[in-house]
Amino acid sequence: MDLYEHQGKELFARFGIPVSEGRLALTPQAARAAAEELGGQVVVKAQVLTGGRGKAGGVKLAESPDDAEAKANDILGLDIRGHVVEKLWLERASEIAKEYYLSITFDRGAKRPLLMFTTQGGIEIEEVAANNPDALVRLHADPLEGFQPWLARRLVYGGGVEDPGEQKQIAAIVERLYRCFVECDAMLCEINPLIVTPDGEVRALDAKVTVDDSALYRHPDIAEFRDTKAADPLESLAREKGVTYVKLDGSVGILGNGAGLSMSTVDVVVVAGGTPANFCDLGGGGSAEGVVDALEVITRDPQVRAIFFNIFGGITRCDEVARGILEALRRIEISVPIVVRLDGTNAEEGRRLLTEAAPPNLHVAPTMLDAARKAVELAA
Ligand code: GDP
Ligand code: MN
Repeated sequence: MDLYEHQGKELFARFGIPVSEGRLALTPQAARAAAEELGGQVVVKAQVLTGGRGKAGGVKLAESPDDAEAKANDILGLDIRGHVVEKLWLERASEIAKEYYLSITFDRGAKRPLLMFTTQGGIEIEEVAANNPDALVRLHADPLEGFQPWLARRLVYGGGVEDPGEQKQIAAIVERLYRCFVECDAMLCEINPLIVTPDGEVRALDAKVTVDDSALYRHPDIAEFRDTKAADPLESLAREKGVTYVKLDGSVGILGNGAGLSMSTVDVVVVAGGTPANFCDLGGGGSAEGVVDALEVITRDPQVRAIFFNIFGGITRCDEVARGILEALRRIEISVPIVVRLDGTNAEEGRRLLTEAAPPNLHVAPTMLDAARKAVELAA
């Protein structure tokens, strides 16, 4: 889950990383009020889940509450890389002498957190990595040892920071950011720019934080940040119902049991010349309840023209799943055709149940490829 800048900064502040004082605003009037409260020069910042806001005109300085209202008016509704601005963050403007960069990501290849620092901040880090790779200090931390002060010193000296005051402040920020990264189960904590003011004060001017979705259950306070309005409505419905669902762009709705089989089902639909409308994993059970919930989510997508039900019975018994499907069809009305492929434990029994009940619009196919072809044909 990606956090908005203001949410990332809220986390940073909890860990003692210096950020500017600010306020949220949803309207130009609220922006004016926020600017009045903050006093002096403020910066008005679009809150969207994408970078490059500065370049796109989503970050503007304002000299007065009047000006803040005008700038808010300009920024609200702006389309930044496909994200429409509905929320603003206003903070007391900082004077900038230098712009640095600091981040911690999870390096899956190395199985370690990767710390990166450069004094060439403010621009996108990919640019620094491509044009000036020597300026970028990269360092892995050992997750078992945890944070060690030498890590921060290596970053700061390696990056060529000479001022002792800056060195000390940045080292402290590295340590706090590492704690934030680990304690929040983050996948990314990025500060770009990490600024130095003309008075020599170091502060996070931006915050980009991604938290591991699978760890959100341990962080109810962070899970609360989730913006249900910005999320896909179908994915929100699926989450409510406990269905594992990812919306895709095609016309064949997919339901499998187990993540591996569901992914293969996505592939085989493509092989058969179709386009998958979603990934949906029924999980282990195959109870009527689970089938109803999953079908409810899938059929809510108007792009779905046919559904491919792909079940391999291991512990799950195919006759159970067949009963689940029939029960689901009694409980909800489904207008699109369904193709079912059952294999594994009690597959014959399952197929027999479906063939005998013979609900309209339900097709039983012998193999996965046959089923995919049939579903693709029906969706065309
Ligand atoms: P991004 O473009 O989405 O990464 O948004 P940032 O929050 O990084 O802001 C972009 C740029 O706006 C920064 O690199 C700064 O140059 C500038 N900026 C942001 N906040 C301030 C501020 O308080 N004062 C000044 N002078 N410039 C700012
Ligand atoms: Mn930035």
